[in-house]
Amino acid sequence: MRIGIHTKINAGFEKAILRLVKLKCNACQMFSRSPRGGKARALGEGEVRLFRKLCEKHDINPVIIHIPYILNLATPDPKMHEYAVSMVKEDMARANLLGASYLVLHMGSHRGQGVEKGLDQVTRALNTALRNYDGETTLLLENTSGAGSEVGYTFEHLARVLKDLETQKAGVCFDTCHGFAAGYDLAGQQEVDATVNELDRIVGLSNLKLIHGNDSMFELGSHKDRHADIGKGYIGEEGFKAILNHQKLREKPFILEIPAESDEDWERNLKTVRRLAGLM
Ligand SMILES: [Zn+2]
Repeated sequence: MRIGIHTKINAGFEKAILRLVKLKCNACQMFSRSPRGGKARALGEGEVRLFRKLCEKHDINPVIIHIPYILNLATPDPKMHEYAVSMVKEDMARANLLGASYLVLHMGSHRGQGVEKGLDQVTRALNTALRNYDGETTLLLENTSGAGSEVGYTFEHLARVLKDLETQKAGVCFDTCHGFAAGYDLAGQQEVDATVNELDRIVGLSNLKLIHGNDSMFELGSHKDRHADIGKGYIGEEGFKAILNHQKLREKPFILEIPAESDEDWERNLKTVRRLAGLM
């Protein structure tokens, strides 16, 4: 199984990788720039080479880049649309440079224009951003919790954008907390089976490339995006046991994005995941 965490890279790539090694992770996710936006620092040739070398040496694969949350692909505002397009372009190039398999993004919010128009905007923005892309990185659409006017919270939303993308290098990331908050039950074996079948029927499991494993601080259908420690939220240990042992999910990389403040927090959560997955 490929299990990893969303790690910070403030202290440089080398420290980030050594931390992953210490935590016995074999996959990882990171921002390639400040998550608050602003102009991205150019990646140096040396640090890129070192990063790729360390990932290879320590068998960290896949590497996933998460795009900053501030971008809104569904926006009706032309300026923000342009900003979102340029950020996707830039981050796809940065992800490719770093040897990342995937770039993950949230679609954003329609801000009152309605879901349909919001989804059209997302498709338009992504098709513009990826028009001349010839890198190796695959773009992944992540499901959202459906807070406020967010789009991308149903499997139908994901399928629709995916279908209209001109690139073949696109897929889906399923976040368990967001899915649960959006109303897809995951709290037990039957519930997980039903949700996975639904995902397969509408999006297709071959398009599912990544799982964000997060428990939910709020109840089913709350539309609140608040991640909890694995097993400590409303999805609970039964839910994660079913997710981690699901025959059709077993090969999908599993990245934790829990609100960890220290390595102890990560260690505790990784231990729970490995125990529930039957790896220890
Ligand atoms: Zn996520």
